[in-house]
Amino acid sequence: MRPIYLDNNATTRPDAAVVETMLPYLTEFFGNASSAHDLGATSRLALKRARESVAALIGAAGGDEIVLMSGGTEADNLALRAGLAASEGRDEMIVSAVEHPAILALAHRLAKTRRLRLHVIPVDAQGRLDLDKLRAALSMRTALVSLMWANNETGVLFPVEAIAQEVKAVGALMHVDAVQAAGRVVIDLAASRIDMLSLSAHKLHGPKGAGALYVRRGLAVEPLVYGGGQERGRRAGTENVAAAVGFGKAAELAASRVRGDGSRMAALRDRLESSLLQGVAGLRALGAEAPRLPNTSALACVGAEADGVAMLLNRAGIAVSTGAACAAGSHRQSHVLAAMSAELAEFGATRFSLSRDTDDEDIDRVLATLPGVFARLRGEARKPAAGLAA
Ligand code: PLP
Repeated sequence: MRPIYLDNNATTRPDAAVVETMLPYLTEFFGNASSAHDLGATSRLALKRARESVAALIGAAGGDEIVLMSGGTEADNLALRAGLAASEGRDEMIVSAVEHPAILALAHRLAKTRRLRLHVIPVDAQGRLDLDKLRAALSMRTALVSLMWANNETGVLFPVEAIAQEVKAVGALMHVDAVQAAGRVVIDLAASRIDMLSLSAHKLHGPKGAGALYVRRGLAVEPLVYGGGQERGRRAGTENVAAAVGFGKAAELAASRVRGDGSRMAALRDRLESSLLQGVAGLRALGAEAPRLPNTSALACVGAEADGVAMLLNRAGIAVSTGAACAAGSHRQSHVLAAMSAELAEFGATRFSLSRDTDDEDIDRVLATLPGVFARLRGEARKPAAGLAA
């Protein structure tokens, strides 16, 4: 049976056009972008175009606002460190309780080593940010606020553009982790006051090991690593030209597809959820009352542990996840679910994350399989589901 891939928040399949665009930069156009000869100039031009395509995807003013780097984790790390370095005299930082570990782990570390006061803003049971607590924490002492646009486990969106207005009103910097949002919802930085924004190519059908930090013009960036003057002195090291070219192509494709793909994925996701919610007692779709990414459905089922659900689905050829990919296999409770409700964290949630490749047949297969999986894990007598070995 054809495998079904519904783990696109972990990573997406590189688009065929992306791979095709990258290939010449792994073969004939191998020049170092810092070299003075023609081969170097070809790579330099390719990087410039990639930055411009990434800038266009998010409505940045130009390619000079894009720092190409190795992915979302590096972009998040640079944003926190650079943001704090640029806000001398201020000693407080604000994040949410459901940020990716790339933010949370570093924020806690920086709080300890630099004696910063760290405010971790809670979310409600729907995964919505507590805006009153955020406002109470904001002050003239705030150096940096770092919030995600979309949560990787639930897809819940934070109103980052509106929050940025309030952050700027106290003179602080605003960083947004848009790794899951880019290519899935429209991002227009021209109309926002966000200072820095993280992106990752492999979440939008680009290659792994490529990403970017958007840095608003005029904001000085203290680099993470020192070396050559690449990326305007903001990210040293010989550039991975092929990966950057792939990222640029993926960004270009995403910009032209984001609206159409979004509504198609939302229709499939909603069909999946409404059919399951009708048919399975005790099932909950997390964040369903909050604004969400169009591609994500996190389902919690009383009595059926998410790890078991994912394992049985895997046996039936359906790839899903039970939380952040980097926590998978470790059987750690999800900090995102724990922040939403202690009871949710107990059983976990199964995350179905769709992509533009997902079709009706995929959803039909999940619908034919999943109720049997839940029943089996809950010890209920039910006909074995299609594709499930006894
Ligand atoms: N931020 C969020 C919200 C993510 O979901 C991820 C990856 O899962 C990252 C950051 C890290 O990105 P990368 O895998 O490119 O390092």
